[in-house]
Amino acid sequence: LLRIEDLHKSYGNEEVLQGIDLAVERGDVEVLVGPSGSGKSTLLRCLNLLTPVDSGHIYLGDTEVTAPDTDPNEIRQQIGMVFQDINLFAHLTARQNITLGLRKVKGIPKDEARKRADAELERVGLADQADSYPAQLSGGQKQRVGIARALAMDPEVMLFDEPTSALDPELSNEVLEVMDELVEGGMTMVVVTHEMRFARGGATNITFLSDGQIVERGPPDKLFEDPDRERTAQFFQSIR
Ligand code: ATP
Ligand code: MG
Repeated sequence: LLRIEDLHKSYGNEEVLQGIDLAVERGDVEVLVGPSGSGKSTLLRCLNLLTPVDSGHIYLGDTEVTAPDTDPNEIRQQIGMVFQDINLFAHLTARQNITLGLRKVKGIPKDEARKRADAELERVGLADQADSYPAQLSGGQKQRVGIARALAMDPEVMLFDEPTSALDPELSNEVLEVMDELVEGGMTMVVVTHEMRFARGGATNITFLSDGQIVERGPPDKLFEDPDRERTAQFFQSIR
């Protein structure tokens, strides 16, 4: 479903992505791990055109994401993203944060947008918080509204960039439960996370990135128990 071919990206004279090749099938969960600065966030940002790539290609199904005539708004509907920093509009309620994009981007009428927003809030366990403003929500609840907002666009793929790293363990669990449900529902996901419990339980494959290159990729059991590369073993030891 998602194909990345020989992707390169530099900031100044630092080459942050040094030729990434990766294919994620429909329904697969790809977990990206690696040291700070290894290029994980940059890779996700390239996938939904928040950052322009220098060279290489990204395909979503038959669509080339990196083609010059691609509409970024179209891509961002199909590739939803959830960040570490919760970026809700403070002056809008949880429901309004979700209906805004449905109405403005998708042109969905008010009543239907509201129904869809409420259905997504229900899905993330926040049916009772539809009228709350972000300041009235916990970090975990805000993050779940962010997930609901991305899901409301009915994306093909969901990207998560450390969605729980700013949260206390208890609040992380709320968010991880929602993510586990998405995995069970067959959502295609690319997830940057330090939550090895999620990686072990949910990942189809784990990709270990270091210095802008894929060092090793494989199923969780293989990477955790019996990695081919010494660097991979060292990394998993360091985060245990
Ligand atoms: P972390 O685990 O800390 O989130 P990461 O793997 O997500 O790290 P990136 O955020 O992708 O790493 O950053 C990779 C490199 O690119 C870093 O050296 C970073 O300083 C640099 N970088 C990222 N974004 C920019 C930017 N907008 N301008 C300049 N340099 C950047
Ligand atoms: Mg990052």
